[in-house]
Amino acid sequence: MTLEPDRYGVIGHPIAHSRSPWIHAQFAQQTGQHLVYSAIDAAPGELPACVREFFAHGGRGLNVTVPHKQAVLELIDSLSERARIAGAVNTIVREAGDRLRGDNTDGIGFVRDLTHNLGVQVAGQRVLLLGAGGATRGLLAPLLALEPSELVIANRSPERALELAHLFARQGPVRGAGFAELEARRFELIVNATAAGLRNELPPLPVSVLRRAAVCYDLAYARGTTRFVQWARECGIARCFTGAGMLVEQAAESFLLWRGVRPDTTAVLAALDA
Ligand code: NDP
Repeated sequence: MTLEPDRYGVIGHPIAHSRSPWIHAQFAQQTGQHLVYSAIDAAPGELPACVREFFAHGGRGLNVTVPHKQAVLELIDSLSERARIAGAVNTIVREAGDRLRGDNTDGIGFVRDLTHNLGVQVAGQRVLLLGAGGATRGLLAPLLALEPSELVIANRSPERALELAHLFARQGPVRGAGFAELEARRFELIVNATAAGLRNELPPLPVSVLRRAAVCYDLAYARGTTRFVQWARECGIARCFTGAGMLVEQAAESFLLWRGVRPDTTAVLAALDA
């Protein structure tokens, strides 16, 4: 008798671009785990029904992506400390009694790629974080723990940046702003955590600010490069990175939560790059 594989997936909208099914298939093969992982498209109004249906049919765990990381909180029975601090969930684990536990591996995945894989130093540096959505929420506490001299969150709707800065004020020197206020500023590290790239758009960052950066990191990823990274290169920034490394690292942390084994990310990242 052959056992059915355990079911996992990623839920978001849009989702067709997602590389997560491929990454988790590599992890499963590498670690000998018997599972399937699929992409589930759910428009905002469909999220509750899609999540319930997935788990009612035996699903074991879900990744949650744009734009559902905050909305999914309402469907969760318990939260990890880091998901509670972030106020956003990117990983759901089905626990005993069919209770759903929300966790957030975005922050640890980002920091691991930035510091361990890419060797970028954050301590004492001025950091600009673009965007104030679910991904930014996950990044804030781990980034502040690296002790930047200053962390500015800039958002298209400035009030969301101000609100986030207020929420995280006790964890480090963070403040919120609109893009227009940045004109005269200089930051060593600029992180693009907006969803602009999903529409092939650029965030309205003054080009003068981009030109003064030492390192740019775009959470978005795409075959080849992203529009933001391309723009940064055109502005003369030598150290520019897409979010492919973060994608693999946060996936490995989710895999660890679900299966109790952390896959080796090096080979998967190299294959994804290729
Ligand atoms: P959300 O939908 O929660 O938030 C989107 C954010 O982007 C908001 O701050 C929004 O501003 C801003 N935004 C959207 N469009 C534009 C635009 N045209 N110009 C300027 N700002 C814009 O998304 P997430 O935070 O979940 O995800 C953000 C990005 O990070 C996505 O591209 C996602 O793919 C990527 N990501 C990558 C990961 C990885 O592993 N590499 C992991 C997690 C996310 P406003 O508030 O004004 O609407």
